[in-house]
Amino acid sequence: EAIRHSTKKEKMEQTFIMIKPDGVQRGLVGEIICRFEKKGFYLKGLKFITVDQSFAEKHYADLSAKPFFAGLVEYIISGPVVAMIWEGKGVVATGRTIIGATNPAASAPGTIRGDFAIDIGRNVIHGSDSVESARKEIALWFPEGPVNWQNSLHPWIYE
Ligand code: UDP
Ligand code: MG
Repeated sequence: EAIRHSTKKEKMEQTFIMIKPDGVQRGLVGEIICRFEKKGFYLKGLKFITVDQSFAEKHYADLSAKPFFAGLVEYIISGPVVAMIWEGKGVVATGRTIIGATNPAASAPGTIRGDFAIDIGRNVIHGSDSVESARKEIALWFPEGPVNWQNSLHPWIYE
């Protein structure tokens, strides 16, 4: 007999995830997407683009006073990136857990940075740090908004 699913509405969140130029160059795109997909999060936006300096400066505006800012911008514009919107319950915080600590030396094995990175300035991936940052970053990278679709497996992922 088929499982009976509740009809309760989940509190869905969206986050902005970006595979940085080093992640693209190192062939980690499939692996990274796989981790978010297999977890049960829903892909709601995806684009493969190279951004320019003023766009990268806007994305990292909160860090403009940091000594590493110029190098960070140079890194982000050094090649194409994969920009994504992922959706799910708690996806902002869980996305950061999947990614691991900012400094790969402190990232646990099993996290993306823990498994695939060594230097803080080549840490492979970005993820929004709060629901509010996610909202701003999605608006910047996806002015057209998310792709509207429903995963038919939803009742097998949510109780
Ligand atoms: N970064 C760096 N040196 C530092 C701190 C940060 O090069 O000392 C870079 C690193 O690529 C990091 C990004 O700046 O991912 C943004 O920093 P943030 O503190 O927001 O870390 P994140 O949210 O990416 O973990
Ligand atoms: Mg950050």
